[in-house]
Amino acid sequence: MSDDDPDNRIERVIIIGSGPAGYTAGLYAARALLEPLMFAGYMSGGQLMLTSDVENYPGYPQGIGGPEMMMELREQAERFGLRVEDKNVERIDTTERPFKVYVEGEEFRADALIICTGAEAIWLDAENEEAQKGRGISTCATCDGAFFRDHEIMVVGGGDSAMEEATFLTRFATKVTIVHRREVFRASKVMLERAKQHPKIEIKTFRSVKAWLSDDSGLTGAILEDPRDSSTEELAITGAFIAIGHKPITAFLDGQIETDQEGYILHKEFTMTSVEGVFAAGDVVDTRYRQAVTAAGQGCQAAMDAERWLEDLGL
Ligand code: NAP
Repeated sequence: MSDDDPDNRIERVIIIGSGPAGYTAGLYAARALLEPLMFAGYMSGGQLMLTSDVENYPGYPQGIGGPEMMMELREQAERFGLRVEDKNVERIDTTERPFKVYVEGEEFRADALIICTGAEAIWLDAENEEAQKGRGISTCATCDGAFFRDHEIMVVGGGDSAMEEATFLTRFATKVTIVHRREVFRASKVMLERAKQHPKIEIKTFRSVKAWLSDDSGLTGAILEDPRDSSTEELAITGAFIAIGHKPITAFLDGQIETDQEGYILHKEFTMTSVEGVFAAGDVVDTRYRQAVTAAGQGCQAAMDAERWLEDLGL
C-alpha cells in the first residue's frame, strides 16, 4: 500500500471541533502546510452558531452575527487547505502513536491531535424540567426565540449569556423576567446595564427555580424559591431560557487526557496536554476567559505548538 492509499494514510494533524479555536488552529496548521483534517461535528461552528451579534471581536466595528463569523473563519481556513468534515468524533485512542480517531465507524490516524470541542449548555435540573425540555424550556434564545412571539418569558442566570439572551428575546416577547439566585452579577457592566434599562425586562434577584409548571398546552409557569428564607412564589410564563453556563465536551476522551474535576482539559506544557502530541485550545480548556477572541488566540497557539512538536520529531 502507498501513502496515497486512504486506508494507509497518517494525517499530520487532526483537529477535533470547530469553534473559533478549531478554525484558527486549522488556519495556522494549513498555512504551515500540515494539510490538517478537521472533524467539525454535526453542528459545526460551536457555540457562536447559537449567538446573535458578536460585538467584542476586534475588527468588526459594527459587530457581526455569530454564524456569519463562523462561516467566514471556516472559509478563510479552507482557502489555505483545511479539510473539514461535518462529523462527530466518537472516541479517540491515544495509547500509542499514530493516534487513532474514530468517526462514524471509520478509523483515522494522526501524528498530532488538536482538541477544540468547546462546551455545551448546562440545564438546571429543576422539578419537571426533563418533561418540558423543548416544550417551553430552551437553552438557546437565538435558536428558539422566534417560537415565543408575544409570550411572557423568563431567563435564568446572572452572566453575560443571560443578559444577551434576555435582550435578544425582547424582540419577540411581551415581557422578559431575568431570574438570578443572588444579587451580584457576573455579567459585564455594559450588558447588565443594557438589560436593566430595557423597558420590557424585569430583574428578580435572590430567586432560583424550584419547579416548572405545565399543562397540556406546555409550560405555564415556574415556582421560584428565595434561597435566603426558602419562601416561594409562582411566576406565570410560557417560555423559559436557561443561561447558567456551560460544561466542557470531553466525555469522548474517556479519561485518556488529564482533566480537572469538571472535565476541562489541563495544559501541561504550553498548549500540550498530558499526552505528548495532543494539544487543546478554547473553551474545552478555558475556565476563565471563554471569549471568541481568546479561543481563537489559543487555537493559533495550539497549531504553532503542534507544528514545532512535529518538526522536532522530524514528522
Ligand atoms: P457565567 O458567566 O459563568 O454565568 C453563569 C450564571 O449562571 C451566573 O450568574 C451563575 O450564578 C448562574 N448559575 C450557575 N449555575 C446555576 C444554577 N444551578 N442555578 C442558578 N443559577 C446558576 O456563564 P455565561 O453567562 O454563559 O458566560 C460564560 C462566558 O461567556 C463569560 O466569560 C462571558 O463573558 C462570555 N459571554 C460573553 C458574551 C458577550 O460578550 N457577547 C455573551 C455570552 C457569554 P452565580 O453568579 O451565583 O454563580
